[in-house]
Amino acid sequence: MSLSRSQTQTLKSLFPGEELLLSPEEAAPFGADASRAFAQPWAVVRPRSLEQARELLAFAHRERIPLFPRGRATNVVGDCVPQGGGIVISTLFLDSLAIDPEDFVAVAGPGVVTADLAAAAEGRGLFYPPDPASVRISTIGGNVATCAGGMRALKYGVTRDFVLGLTAVLPGGQVIRCGGRTHKNVAGLDLARLLVGSEGTLAFITEIILKLLPKPAATASVLAGFASEAQALAAAQAVFRAGMLPAALEFMGAEVLDCLALLGPTPWPRETRAALLLRLDGSAAALAADLDSLAAILRAASATHLEQGLGADQEEPLWEQRRLINPASFRLRPDKLSDDVTVPRGKVAAAVAGIRQAGAAAGLPILVFGHIGDGNLHVNVMYDAAAGESEAAQRAKSDTLDLVLSLGGTMSGEHGIGLVKAAYLPRQIGQEELSLMRRIKDQFDPHHIMNPGKAY
Ligand SMILES: Cc1cc2nc3c(=O)[nH]c(=O)nc-3n(C[C@H](O)[C@H](O)[C@H](O)COP(=O)(O)OP(=O)(O)OC[C@H]3O[C@@H](n4cnc5c(N)ncnc54)[C@H](O)[C@@H]3O)c2cc1C
Repeated sequence: MSLSRSQTQTLKSLFPGEELLLSPEEAAPFGADASRAFAQPWAVVRPRSLEQARELLAFAHRERIPLFPRGRATNVVGDCVPQGGGIVISTLFLDSLAIDPEDFVAVAGPGVVTADLAAAAEGRGLFYPPDPASVRISTIGGNVATCAGGMRALKYGVTRDFVLGLTAVLPGGQVIRCGGRTHKNVAGLDLARLLVGSEGTLAFITEIILKLLPKPAATASVLAGFASEAQALAAAQAVFRAGMLPAALEFMGAEVLDCLALLGPTPWPRETRAALLLRLDGSAAALAADLDSLAAILRAASATHLEQGLGADQEEPLWEQRRLINPASFRLRPDKLSDDVTVPRGKVAAAVAGIRQAGAAAGLPILVFGHIGDGNLHVNVMYDAAAGESEAAQRAKSDTLDLVLSLGGTMSGEHGIGLVKAAYLPRQIGQEELSLMRRIKDQFDPHHIMNPGKAY
């Protein structure tokens, strides 16, 4: 299947000039995302206005043409791959941005890169906390459509917690405006929140209103090494029990530390078997006192190595190790199955142990690390497809998902379902709930043209 001649003519009249890419060579780069799945788009459009988006969604609805919204394609679950063919709608030209320090809001087009939004807010003394590791390469529209999390979710929450309102176009071309600029709003059903995390399956988002906070005056970070994982996990609990809520609390298991050592010298002694990375923020005076308390808590919890950094310049080298996990992982095997499972906070130790068992049973290395304060564990099953390890890797992934669900957890805390996890979703979501989700989908998108084949 592809577009008919008259459909192509209509597209040309709606998108004159560089907003339309029709040749297979020009369209192909818009067919993949960070999951490495690929499908060839029939065409790519890059609307510049709400009106253009509206006309496109009316046309596609009328003609039953699949539409695939796309930001910067950094999602890792095949969320914006045009599987089965259709038109990719790129948000790259919808990049307006206004910061309002009176209302403490940002009003952004979906194509704004999230780090640019955060920097613009900072320039006005304000703070947009959600910080996915992809913050410099992903868009706010993509973050909203996937409900992206990040390191600071522990203290501040995820993208959902900052969306006050949005404008979206429904298949058919109707424009809906949900929520607004107020920081509280309980009038009617919360349609804005329904669209957050909907993975492009319900509507095309054209503008987002985000809550901003006052910017914390200072930040500091601590890297703590431990002789065992049990001690590191107990130390994380001890921090909470002492009444502290860090802005970020990351965990790196033994295999992760060994793997990072393959890239070069690491800041912790060789005998370290687990590490925690913590970030605090607040006023400069409060932060100094908090740092002392935190160091005391970690020492009492048997930390064998402590390093502190005050301010971005000193902190960055500590966080660099966390960012190096992905490149380091490929020293173990050339291929990876990556999950972002999440368990209740009290079940983290059981989850880490069980995931390790799943790796041992499959005979494959598994890396476990992540936002431990949220119970959100990144699980990387490393394998070599060319050496016939794909089946074992799928088994380890499947066992991991079953384990997490048996602990009351979820198969995705951040990345979403997309193509990659669609087949697994019924393990977590019941028949009644899935059926309700599908009925909601039918109301928004009766011909199922929005991002078909994803999630549900
Ligand atoms: C190195 C790296 C680190 C990462 N770290 C994190 C992390 O810490 N936390 C985290 O949560 N994720 C992380 N991710 C995943 C990814 O960055 C997020 O899912 C991000 O929100 C995707 O944004 P994007 O602009 O790339 O969107 P895309 O990948 O282009 O699209 C994602 C989804 O959003 C939909 N979409 C995009 N724009 C719209 C719109 N205007 N209207 C409707 N639907 C739309 C698409 O159809 C698709 O379903 C990481 C990815 C990488 C590669």
